[in-house]
Amino acid sequence: MTPVLALREVSKIYTGDVIALDKVTLDIQQGELLAIVGPSGSGKSTLLNIVGTLDLPTHGTVEIGGQNVTELSDRRLSALRGRQLGFVFQQFHLIDGLSAVENVATGLLYAGVPRRKRRGQAMEALARVGLSHRVNHVPHQLSGGERQRVAIARAVVNDPSLVLADEPTGALDTANGHAVLNLLTALNKEGTTIAVITHDREIAARLPRQVEFRDGRIVADRSAA
Ligand code: ADP
Repeated sequence: MTPVLALREVSKIYTGDVIALDKVTLDIQQGELLAIVGPSGSGKSTLLNIVGTLDLPTHGTVEIGGQNVTELSDRRLSALRGRQLGFVFQQFHLIDGLSAVENVATGLLYAGVPRRKRRGQAMEALARVGLSHRVNHVPHQLSGGERQRVAIARAVVNDPSLVLADEPTGALDTANGHAVLNLLTALNKEGTTIAVITHDREIAARLPRQVEFRDGRIVADRSAA
C-alpha cells in the first residue's frame, strides 16, 4: 500500500552550512501512531515544517499519499495541507473570540467543505474528543486539557491522512498530558494516522513506534512487537 508519508534522502541545509536534516528516509503507513523523538536541536522542527509542507527540503523527496509535494504549486500545496494534514500544537493555537465548535469548524475552511456542513462536522469531532458538553465555551472558559482536546478535534475534523502533533502534552500537567495521549491512542484505534513530535522519551515510550533523531539523522526506529 502507498505510505501516507514517504521521505527519501531528505536533507535540509540552512545558511551557514547547518545540516538540520541529513538524508532522512522514513515511511509512515496508514493507521500508525508513532513518536518522532529526539533532543533539542536534533531536527524535529525542521522535519515537522517539511512534512507539514511549510518548508521545502534542500535535497530529497517528500511524498504525501503518493504525491510528490516538492513539485506542487503553492495553491495545490495549501489544498493538500487542508485536506490531508491535521496539526496539533503545544500551545493549542485556538482563536480566543470563537467558541469551541467555531474553532473546530475552522479546520474545514481550506478543505472545500460547504459552510452549511461545517458546524455539524465540528459537533461530531467534538463528540469524538468527549467535549459535547462544551461546544459553546470559548477557550478561556476551558481548562488546558480541554483546549488541547478542542485543538485535536480541529485537527481530525476533516479526517486527514496524517495528524502532526507537535509536543501536544508540553503545556499540560502530567494527568492532562496522559489524558491527551490516551485520546490520541483512541483516535488512532479508530483509524487516524498520528505522528507525535516530542523531546520526551517517556511520552515516546507510550506509543507503538519510536523514530529517534539525533543531529538530523534517524538513529533508531523501534516498534512494539
Ligand atoms: P529541534 O526541533 O529538534 O530542536 P531544529 O529542527 O529546530 O531541532 O534544529 C535542527 C538544527 O538546525 C539545529 O542545529 C538548529 O540550530 C538549526 N536550525 C533550525 N532552524 C534554523 C534556521 N532557520 N537557520 C539556521 N539554522 C537553523
